[in-house]
Amino acid sequence: MMQMPLTLAMLFRRVERYFPNVEVVTRNADKSISRTTYGEVLRRSRKLANALVRLGVKPGDRVATLAWNSARHLETYFAIPMAGAVLHTLNPRLSAADLTYIVNHAEDRVVFVDEPLVPVFDKFRAEVKAQAIVLGKESDALIERESDQFQMAALSEENAAGLCYTSGTTGRPKGVLYSHRSTMLHALISALPDAIDLGMRDVVLPVVPMFHVNAWGLPYTCAMLGAKLVLPGPHLDPHSLLQLMHDEKVTCAGGVPTVWLAILEAVDKEPKRYDLSSVKQMVIGGSAAPQAMIEAFDKRHGLKVLHAWGMTEMSPIGSTTRLKPEHDKLPESEQYKIKALQGLPPPLVEARAMSQDGEAPWDGKSMGELEVRGPWVARSYYKNEGESDKFRSDGWFRTGDVVTIDPSGYIRITDRSKDLIKSGGEWISSVDLENALMGHPSVKEAAVVAVPHPKWTERPVACVVTREGATATDEELKEFLRKGFAEWQLPDAFVRVDAIPRTAAGKFLKSALREKLKDFKLPA
Ligand code: AMP
Repeated sequence: MMQMPLTLAMLFRRVERYFPNVEVVTRNADKSISRTTYGEVLRRSRKLANALVRLGVKPGDRVATLAWNSARHLETYFAIPMAGAVLHTLNPRLSAADLTYIVNHAEDRVVFVDEPLVPVFDKFRAEVKAQAIVLGKESDALIERESDQFQMAALSEENAAGLCYTSGTTGRPKGVLYSHRSTMLHALISALPDAIDLGMRDVVLPVVPMFHVNAWGLPYTCAMLGAKLVLPGPHLDPHSLLQLMHDEKVTCAGGVPTVWLAILEAVDKEPKRYDLSSVKQMVIGGSAAPQAMIEAFDKRHGLKVLHAWGMTEMSPIGSTTRLKPEHDKLPESEQYKIKALQGLPPPLVEARAMSQDGEAPWDGKSMGELEVRGPWVARSYYKNEGESDKFRSDGWFRTGDVVTIDPSGYIRITDRSKDLIKSGGEWISSVDLENALMGHPSVKEAAVVAVPHPKWTERPVACVVTREGATATDEELKEFLRKGFAEWQLPDAFVRVDAIPRTAAGKFLKSALREKLKDFKLPA
């Protein structure tokens, strides 16, 4: 057989030949709608690739984006790998300190900044060397005189195409480098019927940001298939999204549970306002989709949820939850229970649960840490080779998720071994918050735990022991934390305690605190 390197070059050729007229729709920051096509996006991407070369970007260089989901962002998704460079998407919700670290660690040469995110960039621009180009006027001027022909250099499929940092680890954010090959294989498999199930008749709305693991790879998957893309820009409120679903006849939309909870509330309130009859499925992942939400969408609105689990380190798709034919005979209530599991890995991904005694049996009860392997699973962190215990010497990746696997192979996440809180799809490090709090002169000890939250899935609550004779108000503690954390990362409440419970080894016993706070009423 022929040896064809699996590079994005094939994807670019295909979408341009077969689907040049398929639409890419964007809701802009001013709420207006722009329409373009894959053909036009590709034409402009080639101009942008020429401009990058002219700016001195060399193959392998990192080029960053700080942008919402839009056709202009999509141009960078194509142009950067086309130039042989690495598309590095930055998460604007991170603190300026984290963004500074990430841009410097990646040594980004250029960063494309969305107009509405210029204030975010301004907070750290003095700390980084990357040249900034504002998407829109500046990038348009840059490409104006460039040729729309671009000869892509012959690349190896092992060359890097993308880079994404995760803060879902302990310590500093860590980079995951996606290769052309991993990106292509991930796009192909994502489309399978038991995975996301997409094709050229689909109209896909990635609510998940293009800075979260490449919007779950959807821009590349859709381009490969010729599926229409609907990009929501910065407006992620339920009515903006529902209006797009209605107007553009969206068949598949994907995002974190927080987004869908808000949408459920909106459609519950006004069930007839939007025509959602085109919607085949809503993909929910990034945090656990509650069973009650899956049921409510189906029973009250006839809307189907596909639950998916994944990670930055997995490009991200690790499992999706579709029923096996054998489940058809089960009562509806049992079927919903299965739909709320994290599901089965797609082809090319293997999963196992490892306990202290080796691989846990698939009995739906025995717990272990989920480990995975496959051609789109990271084998190390970027510029951090061998420094993480997450990559096992036998070739498996330790996810940090604690799971059971049932006899049919369905994964259920029961807990997280890492001490992190996921709020609205974004990470908060409890350890970082604790360390910062313990730097306050009035604080003797502090432990931060996740408390379940109906809208954000989880929120941080800090348990604080104050020094004798000292006091600190909640507002003082918050102000103290603002130096290193984004506003949404600050604890929702500070609970004063006499002592933090400890394990025999003297470590904080977080499980005891979580238990104590499980019915804690968070301030509204
Ligand atoms: P990230 O790398 O930011 O995408 O985060 C990956 C982590 O999010 C996983 O290791 C899980 O802890 C969590 N996660 C993602 N999807 C799900 C899901 N469907 N159910 C439960 N947890 C999830």
